[in-house]
Amino acid sequence: MLIEIRYAGICHSDIHTVRGEWGPQSYPLAPGHEIAGIVAEIGSAVTRHTIGDRVGVGVGCMVSSCRECANCRKGEEQYCLAGNTGTYGAVDRDGTITQGGYSTHIVVTEDFVVTIPEGIELDAAAPLLCAGITTYSPLRHWGAGPGKKVAVVGLGGLGHMAVKLAHAMGADVTVLSQSLKKHEDGLNLGADSYYATSDPATFEQLAGTFDLIINTVSAPIDISSYLQLLSLDGALVNVGAPAEPLPVSVFSLILGRRSFAGSAIGGIRETQEMLDFCAEHRLGAEIEVIPANKINDAYERVLASDVRYRFVIDISTLD
Ligand code: NAP
Ligand code: ZN
Ligand code: ZN
Repeated sequence: MLIEIRYAGICHSDIHTVRGEWGPQSYPLAPGHEIAGIVAEIGSAVTRHTIGDRVGVGVGCMVSSCRECANCRKGEEQYCLAGNTGTYGAVDRDGTITQGGYSTHIVVTEDFVVTIPEGIELDAAAPLLCAGITTYSPLRHWGAGPGKKVAVVGLGGLGHMAVKLAHAMGADVTVLSQSLKKHEDGLNLGADSYYATSDPATFEQLAGTFDLIINTVSAPIDISSYLQLLSLDGALVNVGAPAEPLPVSVFSLILGRRSFAGSAIGGIRETQEMLDFCAEHRLGAEIEVIPANKINDAYERVLASDVRYRFVIDISTLD
């Protein structure tokens, strides 16, 4: 189906990709995988969406997968054994390179299109398609809920959604940010506590505290010192994706039967579940809508951790 794109969020992954931090790219490249828009045209085989529907595209980073392998059949298309097709910069089935959401239109198979429920504005919905699902999926998988202590490292695009979602799930939520600059925001987003990681006392005070830590940081951090903050059987899940390896002291895992894990976006079914959850709990992303000519400035502000909490491009301003 053909989708007229209205809004596209700016994910830090766009910046990693555009700058070649994740390896060589095929330029020119239109990034953007937080895409919200309206169905403009449908093919004859389309059954689940119709013209005029409010939809989200490209669940985080993907627009297709094999749909036959064991992981696809489980609804975990993001872990397709044949490799999912990235929303941008991937080789599509016809051999062309996929192009993302900083565009006026996109053609996508309906299997990879989700419905944006009434009650969430399209601009605030766009970041849910990556920042939302990338944090919702591990929170669900590792059982965030009442009685669980969850920490979120990094209060950016993914981090602020992790705080909102974990709070809505009923967990006790702590923000671990580099500084106290966003303290008030963190509490307003739903955090119960907020600490600065620049203060060494934070690591002594919180040792052995959390059942689950979601690390959203885009740069390498000292994982071993964060593992010490987990309680017995706790898990630290990395969703942040710095290009560099993260060294881990094995003792910080052994002493406490702790886990260090990773998680990528979410499947299509779970993405729809996340959108419905957000509608039910009246959650959207905190956004700053910008015209297309401010994209480069927005990138610099994201890199300076000066984003509150997601830039969203108004696609009507594209030339
Ligand atoms: P973002 O908006 O830039 O947020 C990252 C936050 O990390 C910053 O706001 C900052 O929070 C903290 N941070 C940045 N540099 C740091 C440093 N040197 N040391 C400590 N903390 C630092 O980025 P995002 O869009 O949320 O994306 C975060 C990461 O997730 C990126 O690497 C992105 O590629 C990745 N990602 C992964 C998936 C997946 O499927 N796993 C999906 C989407 C994105 P404070 O100011 O609060 O410290
Ligand atoms: Zn993303
Ligand atoms: Zn597959």
